[in-house]
Amino acid sequence: MSLVLAVSPHLDDAVLSAGGRLFELAAEGAEVIVFTLLAGIPEPPFSLLADLFHEEWGLEGNPVAERRAEDGDALKLLGSRPVHGSDLDVIYRTGPDGLWMVDMDGPSAAYETDDEPGLREHLAGSVARVVAELGPDLILTCAAVGEHIDHRRTRDAVLTAAGDRVPVRCWEDLPYAHRSADPPILPDGAVLGPPVAERATDEGWSAKYAAIECYRSQHSMLWPSGEDFRPSFDAHATAQARSLGLTGRAELFWPVLPGGR
Ligand code: ZN
Repeated sequence: MSLVLAVSPHLDDAVLSAGGRLFELAAEGAEVIVFTLLAGIPEPPFSLLADLFHEEWGLEGNPVAERRAEDGDALKLLGSRPVHGSDLDVIYRTGPDGLWMVDMDGPSAAYETDDEPGLREHLAGSVARVVAELGPDLILTCAAVGEHIDHRRTRDAVLTAAGDRVPVRCWEDLPYAHRSADPPILPDGAVLGPPVAERATDEGWSAKYAAIECYRSQHSMLWPSGEDFRPSFDAHATAQARSLGLTGRAELFWPVLPGGR
């Protein structure tokens, strides 16, 4: 039996972007594990922005622990299981100047200049430990479409940890890719190969939607006007399938071609 490791920046990204594929892989008999890299439990005090987010999420007490529980419920529906990392989401990190990376007045200078010394190596080490322990045959992670700092950090950590030892495919970050198209450039000369559209069955697609429902706390941030997420996901998945000559609904993945090849 093959083992597929999905490395997700936050507690919801893998399901939003690749939930259909995760379901199909498990249905085909693969063992599927979703490692959320930035799922560490933060210690108070929090920034005013993080406090505001917690209020928005409706999560008091230990918000990340509650989000981990949402993730467990979601992944169960897809036939995969969670592993939660101990590194922190950018909203809980401080830069070398001691300021929050992002707060009420926006990103800090360190955020703007990508100044988090040692973090890239540290995160690559976190991913490498999970890879060494599980020995995956394939790694799925985000392409960082939309350029979220944590998505770039996660993707780069995976590329460093996987090297040319384990094949990596990058998913199209959703719902960000509903608005912006091309994935950012990869580090260290690695490039993305031509995209592959992975079709989801009706069962897989329903399971993805049911799993997205589990991330209740995040819905008001992802869809601030309270709209139903299904029509935009349906339209995008149908268009992506059609663009590669398929019918039905598909999620898009780019194989990573390591640098120097
Ligand atoms: Zn994310």
